[in-house]
Amino acid sequence: MQRERALKEKNPPSCGGSMEVVRENYTEMKEKAGMGKAYCFIRNEHRSQAKYTVLPPENWPSTEYNNSASPPRERLLVELHTHFDGALRAETVVDLARTKGIELPVDNAEQLKEYVSCANKEVKSLTVFLEAFGIFNSVIRGDRDALRRCALEFCEDQANYGVLYSEVRYCPQFMCGQKPNVEGDSEQYSLTSDEVVQILLDAFAEGSQRYGIKVRSILCLVRPFPEWAAETVALCKKYYGKGVVGIDVAGDETLYPIVANDEFVKAFQEAKKFGIHRTAHAGEAGPAQNIRESLDWLSAERIGHGYHLVQDEELYNVIKKEKIHLELCPTSSILTGSVPSFKNHPGKRFINDGFNFSINSDDSLCINSTVADEYNLVYNEWGYDFPVLTRAAFNAARSSFLPEEEKRQLIEDLETVYGMR
Ligand SMILES: [Zn+2]
Repeated sequence: MQRERALKEKNPPSCGGSMEVVRENYTEMKEKAGMGKAYCFIRNEHRSQAKYTVLPPENWPSTEYNNSASPPRERLLVELHTHFDGALRAETVVDLARTKGIELPVDNAEQLKEYVSCANKEVKSLTVFLEAFGIFNSVIRGDRDALRRCALEFCEDQANYGVLYSEVRYCPQFMCGQKPNVEGDSEQYSLTSDEVVQILLDAFAEGSQRYGIKVRSILCLVRPFPEWAAETVALCKKYYGKGVVGIDVAGDETLYPIVANDEFVKAFQEAKKFGIHRTAHAGEAGPAQNIRESLDWLSAERIGHGYHLVQDEELYNVIKKEKIHLELCPTSSILTGSVPSFKNHPGKRFINDGFNFSINSDDSLCINSTVADEYNLVYNEWGYDFPVLTRAAFNAARSSFLPEEEKRQLIEDLETVYGMR
């Protein structure tokens, strides 16, 4: 609780001095009480379990919606955790690569899906899983038209999967492209991160209008590049209320611990000071300690994945009691090697213990599965019935980063499609 006091004293903290106080207290806390004792939590009135009802099975989204030209039936889902560059259409990646003369290690979309999935790979790890993003980004970076096209397709796909509201996340710097260094190089391969965000926000707004859904953006810091953190939080501030709703930290947590670099802490505290919502990938492939640090250091309001929470009973009980939202991504958790199997999956324990959780795809292209598939998986593989699935959708709506009025409207809209009003 010393850290809590430290933050209160400096509330809102300035990004320079207060971090030193925090760091000192954290070090002191580690020494005195071990790594398991230092945390403070953001109060969030929306961390409550949703009421639920039994949903008629015939209304439930199914895989038949995938990329279907036919209009979807009901929009019943809310997805909080999906990466834009991991959710491109395989067909589009292949098409763009062909147009641009970019050589891919595969010949067609089906092969690409197989190639980027860890399903058939001997080693399943987050590191291997993330390698596919090099391919995805190679066909869109620095290309205004490709970014716009993929953002519109994202909206269409989400609508077809039965999604009413989606929070999509991305690291703008990954999509900037190279600055031309040879005279005559095409200008289309050079965009600033600001331009990338503007292009995507415009396209998500257009796609939302066109396909009758709502899409909002979360900008990602990435663990290997702390030097981008200040720019990213500045973009969050610039576009907050104009399509951006939050900040995240992503990347390989097995290789890059958050606390190794103050840039992340500074950026998240700056976001907090500005009222920008915060989520963090933690406890996915890394230990429960990363969840603790995300709450403590980054003031995270939600946790992406969080499976290794089961390593720390004390933290487990706090997350349960505080109803801190966990963004679960079942298939992804297996393909990154974070969880060995669906049987005895920590997600089942979270659900049974009444956690505030949602069901998400993470990266639909990498996992060859959609958010609707993931709901069906929880139904078919984990054996949960519609009350639990409905609870997941309402949890997601209540823990979304929308402004209060829009959140209230989303919950009302969900209640309507679930026949609760
Ligand atoms: Zn993720």
